[in-house]
Amino acid sequence: MKTCFLSIDVEKRENQENQPFEGVEKLDNILNIFKKHHLKSTLFVTGEVLEKYPELVKKWTNEHEIGCHGYYHIPLDKLGLIEREKQVVDFIGLYKNNFNRSPKGFRAPRNIIDNEQFPILEKYGFLYDASVFPRYPWRLHRYEGYRGRAPINPYFLDRKNYKKKGEANILEIPESPVFLNIPLVGTWLRKLGVGIFKKLFLFKKPRFISFSMHSWDGVKFKGKSSKNSGEKYLKQLDKILGHLNKIGYEFKTGEKIYEEFSENK
Ligand SMILES: [Zn+2]
Repeated sequence: MKTCFLSIDVEKRENQENQPFEGVEKLDNILNIFKKHHLKSTLFVTGEVLEKYPELVKKWTNEHEIGCHGYYHIPLDKLGLIEREKQVVDFIGLYKNNFNRSPKGFRAPRNIIDNEQFPILEKYGFLYDASVFPRYPWRLHRYEGYRGRAPINPYFLDRKNYKKKGEANILEIPESPVFLNIPLVGTWLRKLGVGIFKKLFLFKKPRFISFSMHSWDGVKFKGKSSKNSGEKYLKQLDKILGHLNKIGYEFKTGEKIYEEFSENK
């Protein structure tokens, strides 16, 4: 059986002066398409979003899992360790007030993560992280979230080197690519189109892939990397989800993937 980890980063759109939360308020654009295909996903929300839209986030929990995407979406390399811990503690407090439980999954803002973050996540009971891009195409186009090769299937990580398998209690659920190291993420789907991804799947259907997007992919916005945002993206999304279903991918939330991997640990 092939697995797809489906997730959305739910956050304010940076550098967007008009309606930076539009994608959050209109997330049903995307979620209705998930519903059409009967899919559960993991939504990595920022503390800022949960603070501003608690009722909306509660509604999403009926069908989806809610993980942590930092408090204010500040990249971890801009924060000292004390400030990092405070952001996690503040997020957990807010989360507990709303859901009477602690969050289990974490994704770092802009996928920037390092070894220092994992002791904090372990200390506060996170079960998995979903920040690592284990591959990335074209060395020349250096993406800040790519920090070198790592396993492409979910793995319990090494405390000294999160890009290796080890004995830590945290499962890494990586943003694993399709083929030619090309990741199935909203921005790339908008840029390349559904047809190219369908072709990539002809060459290879990996046992595990990650499909992640942003809350703002589903609303029309302007500027850098805005190609096919809004309605056009929603059509692409509908098509690619239909295709993934057809070629045998089963969609699982982070906690479900954790459960399966911890049974086999
Ligand atoms: Zn983000």
